[in-house]
Amino acid sequence: MIREDPEVSELVTQRFRAEGIDVLLNHRARQFIVDSGEKILIAEHEGQDVRIPFDAVLVAVGRAANLKGFGLEELGVPTGRTVETNEFLQTNYPNIYAAGDVAGPFQFTHTAAHQAWYAAVNALFDPFKKFKADYSVIPWATFVEPEVARVGLNELEAKEKGIPYEVTTYGIGQDPRRHHRRRTCRRPDRRIRAGHEARHRAEQDPRHHPYLPDAGRGQQVRRRQLEESACAAETAGLGRTFPCLAAGVIGMRSARQQPALLLAIALFVPWAVWADTLWLGRFSDATAAIPAPWKIEHLDRRVPPTQYAVRLWDGVVAIEARASKSMALLGRPATVDLKKTPFLCWQWRIDAPVASADMNRKSGDDYAARVYLTFAVPPEQLGFATRAKLSLARTIYGNQVPDAALNYIWDNRHPIGTMQDNAYTDRARMLVLRSGAGQAGNWVQERRNVLADFDKAFGGIGGKLQGLAIASDTDNTGEDAHAGFADFRFVETEAACPITKN
Ligand SMILES: Cc1cc2nc3c(=O)[nH]c(=O)nc-3n(C[C@H](O)[C@H](O)[C@H](O)COP(=O)(O)OP(=O)(O)OC[C@H]3O[C@@H](n4cnc5c(N)ncnc54)[C@H](O)[C@@H]3O)c2cc1C
Repeated sequence: MIREDPEVSELVTQRFRAEGIDVLLNHRARQFIVDSGEKILIAEHEGQDVRIPFDAVLVAVGRAANLKGFGLEELGVPTGRTVETNEFLQTNYPNIYAAGDVAGPFQFTHTAAHQAWYAAVNALFDPFKKFKADYSVIPWATFVEPEVARVGLNELEAKEKGIPYEVTTYGIGQDPRRHHRRRTCRRPDRRIRAGHEARHRAEQDPRHHPYLPDAGRGQQVRRRQLEESACAAETAGLGRTFPCLAAGVIGMRSARQQPALLLAIALFVPWAVWADTLWLGRFSDATAAIPAPWKIEHLDRRVPPTQYAVRLWDGVVAIEARASKSMALLGRPATVDLKKTPFLCWQWRIDAPVASADMNRKSGDDYAARVYLTFAVPPEQLGFATRAKLSLARTIYGNQVPDAALNYIWDNRHPIGTMQDNAYTDRARMLVLRSGAGQAGNWVQERRNVLADFDKAFGGIGGKLQGLAIASDTDNTGEDAHAGFADFRFVETEAACPITKN
């Protein structure tokens, strides 16, 4: 049980062995053969081949969402391993929602039902009111005997995420023949976040029910009798795991209880109401690889590339950049009508600015975080000298050298609002949006009028946006940097940038 705490896996392993089940760990299946009429699996164990006779094999290979052939490609709905959605479960077409296995990041019956509620209600009430799908307390159950169930982080995940915690282990239930025990993982300074228990019935302790007002606090025992309640053969919400269900506790969240009218009305809500947000970077699945068309551009092979990955970071699914004496961009094409949607929204964070950076010098041209926009400019606007310079640069660095580029930077020393040429080229302008460590360690929201910034940087030369990239780079100073980027989208002048932090 690789996602469970070792102590819990050990408990289950002991029980299996006590029941006569031979649990073979660290065996790698290599070959199935029939030898003298006997079916045998050849497996590798500690460098040796071992022979395991068997009658039948069950293979568990996992599941993947089937996203092809439904028209998503034609519409340009971004997909990775799942359909990309925002926290309201909207795709890049705000009237197209995804919920369940195709939306991820979980593949459970109860999370599918949970998301269905959000998708249906948001479809109906947005833009007047919409709700972020709340995954803060997801029940998990493994239907072994004794069943293992948990809510929220376990110790393993707290360690992985670097969250300080305390573990308390204590017995529950009266029957000594049952493995009633609970491990509670708690931030030292906070309410109880998670429970982990192995018990006789496959149900979570209702004290951790996410829809109770004291969700996750481990306070009063409210519905303890659920432990003994019969399973209802219907889908429940997030509070109960399938297949043992009790829909009564979930109120409106039950898919069964949603008025059919909700969906019917939603179909008639004009999608044009939301059509003016153009998402370019919404990283909805923290377990997935960086979704296309984002691509790492390693421009200078002589320096190591900055590392990029998707992660859940303080409630935001984001791109994490780690630079160590390194440089590489993570970029994507961006064809956006800036006259219609001139404002770029995003959020970003850094651990710390690059201490010895100085954008006045080539040797100091490093930034903990930067957002880089590239533009095509009509040739007649560039002049002969500029065209010649660009042509030479492209001979050396390739066609990725843009006609013009605007860099929004998180600098270490220059005042916010400083705009100047890049130390290497006057075809790139640097604009300081954040400076110093004052907001380090926090997500910071941005909303920039790209059209206005471009005109200010280059004059009215009619640039057409071509690409969007992000970077942490420390190749000139030889330092380290750690930054996050999320939720890139272009919006109309009147539109706000809704805060997406959970
Ligand atoms: C073997 C197995 C065991 C599982 N055990 C558990 C468990 O114990 N607990 C748990 O919580 N989860 C379990 N799951 C996961 C759970 O079944 C899924 O997470 C859940 O069913 C997802 O619901 P959904 O509505 O997103 O998708 P689905 O339930 O897959 O529903 C999608 C529906 O769309 C239909 N469909 C597909 N294509 C089209 C089309 N072109 N036109 C019209 N209809 C279409 C399909 O027929 C299907 O009915 C298990 C899954 C499997 C495969």
